[in-house]
Amino acid sequence: MSFSKLGLSDPILSALTDLSYSEPTAIQKKAIPAVLSGRDLIASAQTGTGKTASFVLPILHKLNAEHNQHTLRGKRIRALVLVPTRELAIQVEASIEQYGKHLALTSMAMYGGIDSQPQKQRLIWGIDLLVATPGRLLDMAHQRALHFDELEFLVLDEADRMLDMGFIDDINKIIERLPAQRQNLLFSATISDDVRALAKRTISAPIEISIAQNKKYQPSINQWLVTIDKTNKSALLSHLIKELKWQQALIFIETKHGAAKLVSQLEKRGIIAESIHGGRTQEIREKILKDFKQGHIKYLVATGIAARGLDIGELDRVVNYDLPDKVDDYIHRIGRTGRAGASGEAVSFVSKDNFRNLCAIESRLGHIIERKEVAEFPVKKTVPVSILNFVPKNKRS
Ligand code: AMP
Repeated sequence: MSFSKLGLSDPILSALTDLSYSEPTAIQKKAIPAVLSGRDLIASAQTGTGKTASFVLPILHKLNAEHNQHTLRGKRIRALVLVPTRELAIQVEASIEQYGKHLALTSMAMYGGIDSQPQKQRLIWGIDLLVATPGRLLDMAHQRALHFDELEFLVLDEADRMLDMGFIDDINKIIERLPAQRQNLLFSATISDDVRALAKRTISAPIEISIAQNKKYQPSINQWLVTIDKTNKSALLSHLIKELKWQQALIFIETKHGAAKLVSQLEKRGIIAESIHGGRTQEIREKILKDFKQGHIKYLVATGIAARGLDIGELDRVVNYDLPDKVDDYIHRIGRTGRAGASGEAVSFVSKDNFRNLCAIESRLGHIIERKEVAEFPVKKTVPVSILNFVPKNKRS
């Protein structure tokens, strides 16, 4: 099947020819006609499937079709793509430029962490397609540098990652400001309960598309757990770091106090670690994270909350020193490892009082997580094998 069968206009087809795209990918075959027909859309698809073009191409087509009758007013935008990170904003905007190079539409990437003045300046004349991170966008709206009354398209790209990074309040505030009459598209690697709840509030009668993961991009995550008495956890962690020669680990812990304590316990055993928690400023957390990603810090202890506003990226290994209370948190955490074909490892420490959590997690996964025994750490309080169809009490009907 060729792109011309999808009903895209000639200038767009010619840009695709320039890029040597010979045929649409699976998601493009499904999403492009759906968007052209004016329907809302929910698509589960990973990076690498061609998902960016699947929304950019039909939006460009539709904006261009009305372009002659439409005079864009100052500080107005016609399409908004919300993305979790600055990197993705830059990448998506670069794709818009490539695909729209024969069209007279304007686009811009807008994100925080840099001077907002040049961005404001560009908004003065209006922009057809704006790609933005939620925080900076909201800032601009508050400053009246941007109005949404001419918006026709909303795209939530990598919705799961945006929720993962704690943008839900910002997203809700943005959506409240948008005109009710608009076309909504949501893309997410996984459609978790939280993503579904967001979709329910944002999107009406959508077409749903699910694209099987490209094998090349299928994460292979080696999940295993060790049952351990609570009092032995820090000794077990030191032991595993040394015995298994771990070169990198992001260690999730429940409390800020616990994070500081664990760092000093590790230090006593000769292991240098750092911590990020709610007591540290965003700036310091980002600096520490950067050092961790570059390998200057090998072991990073983080509370779940501190990790929320950060783009953790791809890691070799996460350790659930404390098993999270929410199953979604477990899924998000393990999803940080083994991205884009590399193999990753997710290790959990489970003590007897985590039994219910473990049942809930394994029920969601649909399988039992492999247990490994560490001979040096025999347990006194055994953790029973999970009941796989476990339903928490408050969710029983
Ligand atoms: P994405 O999933 O949007 O991040 O796209 C992954 C990569 O696939 C990007 O480098 C695109 O340029 C490329 N791509 C997207 N659609 C096609 C296509 N139909 N044919 C060839 N390459 C494509």
